Amino acid sequence: MSQKYADIIIDISHEAIDRTFQYMVPEELENSIEIGMQVQVPFGAGNRNRKGYVIGITEIPCFDIDKMKSIVGIPDRSLQIEGKLIKLAAWIRQQYGSTMFDALKTVMPVKEKIRKTAARVLETEYALKKPPVMELNPSQEKLVGEFKSDRDSGNFFSYLLHGVTGSGKTEVYISCIKEVIKEGKQAIVLIPEIGLTYQNVARFKQHFGDRVAIINSKQSKGEKYQEFMRAKNREVDVVIGPRSALFTPCDSLGLIVIDEEHDGAYKSDQTPKYHAREVAIERARLEHASVILGSATPSMESYTQAQLGRYKLWELPYRPYGMELSTVSVVDMRDELRMGNRSIISKELYQLIEDRLEKKEQVMLFINRRGLNTFVSCRECGEVVKCPKCDVSLSLHNTGWMMCHYCGHMERQAMECPFCKSKLIGGFGTGTQKVEEEIQKLFPQAKTLRMDKDTTAKKGSQSSILSEFLAGKADILIGTQMIVKGHDFENVTLVGIILADLSLFDNDYRAGERTFDLLTQAAGRAGRGEKKGHVLIQTYQPEHYAIQAAAAQNYQGFYDTELTYRRLLKYPPVYNMMVVLVTSPSYDEAVEASKEIETLLRPRCTKETGIRLIGPSDATIQKIKDIYRRVLYIKAEKPADIMSIRDIVDNYEKEGIKIAVDVNPLNMY
Ligand code: ADP
Ligand code: ZN
Ligand code: ZN
Repeated sequence: MSQKYADIIIDISHEAIDRTFQYMVPEELENSIEIGMQVQVPFGAGNRNRKGYVIGITEIPCFDIDKMKSIVGIPDRSLQIEGKLIKLAAWIRQQYGSTMFDALKTVMPVKEKIRKTAARVLETEYALKKPPVMELNPSQEKLVGEFKSDRDSGNFFSYLLHGVTGSGKTEVYISCIKEVIKEGKQAIVLIPEIGLTYQNVARFKQHFGDRVAIINSKQSKGEKYQEFMRAKNREVDVVIGPRSALFTPCDSLGLIVIDEEHDGAYKSDQTPKYHAREVAIERARLEHASVILGSATPSMESYTQAQLGRYKLWELPYRPYGMELSTVSVVDMRDELRMGNRSIISKELYQLIEDRLEKKEQVMLFINRRGLNTFVSCRECGEVVKCPKCDVSLSLHNTGWMMCHYCGHMERQAMECPFCKSKLIGGFGTGTQKVEEEIQKLFPQAKTLRMDKDTTAKKGSQSSILSEFLAGKADILIGTQMIVKGHDFENVTLVGIILADLSLFDNDYRAGERTFDLLTQAAGRAGRGEKKGHVLIQTYQPEHYAIQAAAAQNYQGFYDTELTYRRLLKYPPVYNMMVVLVTSPSYDEAVEASKEIETLLRPRCTKETGIRLIGPSDATIQKIKDIYRRVLYIKAEKPADIMSIRDIVDNYEKEGIKIAVDVNPLNMY
C-alpha cells in the first residue's frame, strides 16, 4: 500500500478551519483512520501534542515529505459530534461540488460571543398559549405505532408523510418526537423560514416547554451558537429552525423532521448548493436516526423515492372530524375578457367577496409574484410565447428580446400573438399592490391588509400583520406566497387566487410543480374553522393539468402527468441535471471560457454515454452586478455520470473566470 497523508485541522473554530496541516499516516493507523476522526499530532516548533480532526486523506503529499511530521495516535476511535459533521461535510463536498473549506463552513457552528442587545425576541414572539388537549385519531395512531415498532426493532427508516393540508401531520411529528425522547434521543425539526410562525412554534413549546431550542434568521450568530450549544450539551430535546438548523450539533440524534419538504427554501443558494432533504437523509444514515418528510404536496423527488420503496409512504388523506376540505372552482379569465370585464377580479370572485363582507367572514387573496422573469403572453387566447426547441417560455429581457435560457434561442419581442394574431400581447406582470388598489376601488368599505416582501421588511412586521388579521381587524388579506403557509385563520371562508398562471410560466421545468404546490397550499387556507371554505382559482389556462389537478385536489393525478413529462424531457427526478455557471466581468471571456468547457465535456457527452450537454448560452439573467453569466446544462440518468462531468469542470481553471456548479438546481440561471 502506498503512503497515506492526512489533512488535519487543529482548531475547529470557524476562523481557523481553512488552515489545514498535512501529516503522514503511520502504517499501523492506515486501516483505522477515517475522515472526522480525532487524532493526536505534534504541533508547532516545540512539537507539543495537540488534538486535531482529519478532514481529508490522500496519497499525494502537498509539501516536502522529509519535513512532514507523523500522526502520533488516535485517542478515541468513536466519532464525536464534530467528527460526524466533518464526515457529513465531506459527503456534501463530494455530492454538490465545493471546496472542503466551504463544506466545513456550512456544517460547523460559528463560535461567536452573544451580543447583549440582541435580546430574547423569541420569547415574546412565540409566547405560550393554553393547549387544547388532543388525542390522536386512529389514522395518526397507526403511523406513530409503526414508527415506534420500526425503531424498537432497530430500523431507522425515512418516511414520507403525505397528508392533505390540516390532516394532522404536525401532531404526528410531535408524537414521534416524544418516542425518540423516551429513548433518550433528540430531534431536529426543519420548517421553512416563512412557516416559523408564532402559531407553529407555540405548538412545539406547548409539548416540550423549555426543552426546545429555536433557530431563526433574525438571530445573531452568537444567539444561534448559544442555541446550538444547548443542543450539544443536551439541555434541549428538540431543535426547530430553517435549513441551517439541520447542522445543529445534537449529541444524540434520533429523528429529523422536515415539514413542507417540497419547499424550495431547503435548497441552499450558496456553494455548496446542497438540498437539506438529501443531507438530512445522509446525516440520519451516519447517526442511525430516522427521517420524517411531511407535505400535502410532496416533491416529485420524494414521491418517486416512496414509489421505489426507499421511503415508507404514510398517507393522511382526510382532515380530522369536523373539518371539511373546501370547494374549489376555476374561473376562465378569457371569458371575463370576452364579457368585457378587464378587471383582475372576475365577476364570480366579486360576488363571493361581497357575500363574505356581508357575513363578516374573512377573505384571503393570493397573487404569486414569485417569478423573477416576465414572460410574454396573449390576453386573448392565453398562449405564452415559448421556445421552438424546448418546452419553456421565453423570458422577456429588458433589451426587447425574448430568450430561451435552456438553449440560447433568441427572437425579437412579439408585437402580435403568434397563435391568434391579437395585438393584446405583452409582458405579464402584476402584483399585490395592484390587487389592493383594485379591491379598494371595488369595495371601499372593506379594510385590507397587504403582506409581501415590501410590507414585511421590518423585523416583526410579518407577525403583526398576521395577528391583526387573526384578530379580525381587517376583512381582506392580500399577499404573496407568504400568506399561504402555516397559518390557521378560522374565520377565512374564501381564498381567491388572482392569477394561477403567474407561476406556471416561470421558464423552468418545475413551473408545473410549483404552481400545483402553491394552489394546493393556498386552497388549504380556506375552511380551517367550522364553516366550509371556498377556493376560487382565476386563470387564463384552465385546461392546464397543474390547475386541473389542484382544483380537483388530486395529487396522484398531478404526479402521474408531471412524471410523464419529466421522463419525456429528461428532467429530474427521472434524470439528473447539473448547471455549470461561468461568470466573468468580461462578456467575451465568459463566452470563450464556456466554449472551452464545452470542448472539454463534448467527448464525454455522446449518444453512447447518454450524457447530454445543452449550451453554452447566456443565463436568463445575463448580467448581475456587471458580471456576465453563461451556462451549460448537463443531463444524465446516473448520478455518477454527473459527478464525472463535474470532476472535469473542477479541473478547469482560468484567470478572471469563476465557475459554479449546481446539481439538480431548483432556481433559474
Ligand atoms: P397539518 O400539519 O397536516 O396541516 P395539523 O397537525 O396542523 O395539520 O392539524 C390541523 C388541525 O387539526 C389543527 O387545528 C389540529 O389541532 C387539529 N387536529 C390534528 N389532529 C387532531 C386530532 N387527532 N383530533 C382533533 N383535532 C386534530
Ligand atoms: Zn430553447
Ligand atoms: Zn393569442
